[in-house]
Amino acid sequence: MNRPLEDLRVSVTDRCNFRCTYCMPLDEYPWISRDQILTFEEISRTARIFAGLGVKKIRVTGGEPLVRKGLPDLVGQLAAIPGIEDIALTTNASRFVELAQPLRDAGLNRVTISIDTLRADRFREITQRGELQPVLDGIQAAKRADLGPIKLNAVIERGVNEDEILDLVEFAREGDFEMRFIEYMDVGNANEWSSDKMVSAREILTVIRSRYELVEKPGRGSRPSKDYDFSDGRGGVGVIGSVTEPFCGACSRMRLTADGKLVSCLFSDTGADLKKRLRSEATDEEISVFIQEIWRKRDDRYSETRLAQMNSPSGYTPQSRKKIEMISLGG
Ligand code: SF4
Repeated sequence: MNRPLEDLRVSVTDRCNFRCTYCMPLDEYPWISRDQILTFEEISRTARIFAGLGVKKIRVTGGEPLVRKGLPDLVGQLAAIPGIEDIALTTNASRFVELAQPLRDAGLNRVTISIDTLRADRFREITQRGELQPVLDGIQAAKRADLGPIKLNAVIERGVNEDEILDLVEFAREGDFEMRFIEYMDVGNANEWSSDKMVSAREILTVIRSRYELVEKPGRGSRPSKDYDFSDGRGGVGVIGSVTEPFCGACSRMRLTADGKLVSCLFSDTGADLKKRLRSEATDEEISVFIQEIWRKRDDRYSETRLAQMNSPSGYTPQSRKKIEMISLGG
């Protein structure tokens, strides 16, 4: 499909201190054993090989990446790789008060923080074990550490938090953050997705436009979000319409799971075993060829197919394909 390989998303752990209902609500799960998790050296070597293929951006994800011990050491190793220009992190920020500055000092450039509600009781319900205040403090810590532009991500689910769209926008505008809303998706197998629970990008924009005038930003490139500026010049907002406005044609990301699988689509059911090669005698050149073969053969377009099925008389059955859970894959 002629999609260039531009980004690498690295999951450093499948553990998380939250159990968000839309992501991975299960307590019991076949967690990856410690000896199967890639070491920082193995991740850095992989990133170096990807940089040799032209990748300039790396996003560190999880699970919750901050639960992996020594994360600033990894970021330092990634920042030292020639050709890597941008290192971003996706986090729930609950441990960011201690970690924002060390990560910044190590070379982290940007951060995206998940926050689906500004109400403490609702936050507990959605995350099943998280507290709102440490996350709010973590957002401020990101600001103090100059990790901007700071993006805030909210998954909007009908009957759960769609009444907070304007509150979240206002919170972001006041704090000088970029708010991004994400359509609720059928990631993994455990989130009991149904299309009625999804609030579409169009609906989200209608709500925002009821209070603010928006101007669409040109030049979307391979960004998943459609971004808008507020016409009063006070910041911007983005909407990721993965379900109703798929962007597979511009999908330029490879994902590396915590246990060393290369996965070329968020909705894949399998990955290619990179760890086996990293732990063999394979040279960097051989591993590079392995990566290139995966990327060239790649024909993923899950979201486009899902939308076509949703619009067909037979409809779309989310359980029809077993997928890797997002907690292993890094979103
Ligand atoms: S569904 Fe797969 S191919 Fe399409 S945008 Fe998402 S990750 Fe990329």
